[in-house]
Amino acid sequence: MTNRNFRSTLTGSFSSPCADNPTVAMMEAAYMHEGIDARYINCEVTPDNLEAAVNGALAMEWIGFNCSLPHKVAVMAYLDEIAEAAKIIGAVNCVSVRDGRLIGDNTDGKGFLASLKKVADPAEKNVVVLGAGGAARAIAVELGLAGAKSMMIVNRKLEKAQNIADLIRETTICQANAVGWTDTIRIPEGVDIVVNATSIGLGERDVLPPIELSSLAEKMIVADAIPNPPMTKLLREAESRGCTTLNGLGMLVNQGLIGAELWFGRKFSAPVMEQTLGNIFGVNY
Ligand code: NDP
Repeated sequence: MTNRNFRSTLTGSFSSPCADNPTVAMMEAAYMHEGIDARYINCEVTPDNLEAAVNGALAMEWIGFNCSLPHKVAVMAYLDEIAEAAKIIGAVNCVSVRDGRLIGDNTDGKGFLASLKKVADPAEKNVVVLGAGGAARAIAVELGLAGAKSMMIVNRKLEKAQNIADLIRETTICQANAVGWTDTIRIPEGVDIVVNATSIGLGERDVLPPIELSSLAEKMIVADAIPNPPMTKLLREAESRGCTTLNGLGMLVNQGLIGAELWFGRKFSAPVMEQTLGNIFGVNY
C-alpha cells in the first residue's frame, strides 16, 4: 500500500548564527530512527525577525521549536505559558505548540542534570559553577532544585554571579555564594562537582578557564558545557588528574531527548543521537 500522506510534522530551531548548531543532524537522525515523518529545520533568525518566525511556526502548525542565542529571553514575550523552572531561570529554549498555544520550557539545565545523573546524584553535593551567563543560570537552578548542598558561582562580572546566588538561595534549599573571577581561582577542598559554564574553550582546543589545575582532586566530577570541541583542555587536564569528566555533548543529547518528549509525547532512544554527534565531532560514546 503506497503512503499517501505527504505531510511531515515540523519542528526546528531559531537562532543567529545558526550554521554551527549540530542539533538538526541529531534530531533528524532520531526522527528517522524512530520512524517518525518529521523534520527539524535549522533557521537563521535575527532578533528583528523573531516575532515573525514564531508567528510563522504557528501559521505552519509546527509542533515545537528550540530557541538558541540570542532569543532565549526575548521569545518569552510571545508565549502563552511558561513552565515553572523556565520562569525561575528567566529563559526559554524549547517551545511546544499545543492547540495553538505556545508553551515555553528550559531544557538547558535539565539536559545537563540528566547527563550528570549518569555519573552522580547532585543531592547533598558541593558544587562550583564557573560562569554566570544563560547556561550557568539554568544549570545552577536545576542543581539547586535537585538538592545540591552548596554552590559557589564564579564569574568575571561579579554582579551576575551574585544575581544567580541570590536566586538559588531564594528558590532552593542550596547554600549559594558568589565569587568574582579576577585572578586564577583555586577550587576549594571538599568540592564534589565543578562545572564550566563559561564560553572559555568554545571552538578552541587549547584554551583553559583560569583555574589552578593542582586544585582539581581525583574524586571530583569535572563537567564542561562546551559541546565543541567535546574534550576541552579543562576536561583533558581533569582526566589526567583522575577526575571523572563529562563533556557538553551529553547535555546536548539529553536536551534533544527532553525536547522530543515534550513535542511527541514519547521517549526517544539516546544511542542514535549520541552516535550522530559522536560521528560529527569524532568522539566515541
Ligand atoms: P553567555 O554569553 O550567556 O555566558 C558566557 C559566560 O562565559 C559568562 O559568564 C562570561 O562571563 C563567561 N566568559 C566568557 N569569556 C570569558 C573570559 N574570557 N573570562 C572569564 N569569563 C568569560 O553564554 P551561555 O551561558 O549561553 O553559554 C555558555 C557556554 O555553554 C557556551 O560555551 C555554550 O556553547 C555552552 N552551552 C552548551 C549547551 C549544551 O547543550 N552543551 C547548551 C547551552 C550552552 P561575564 O559574564 O563576566 O562576561
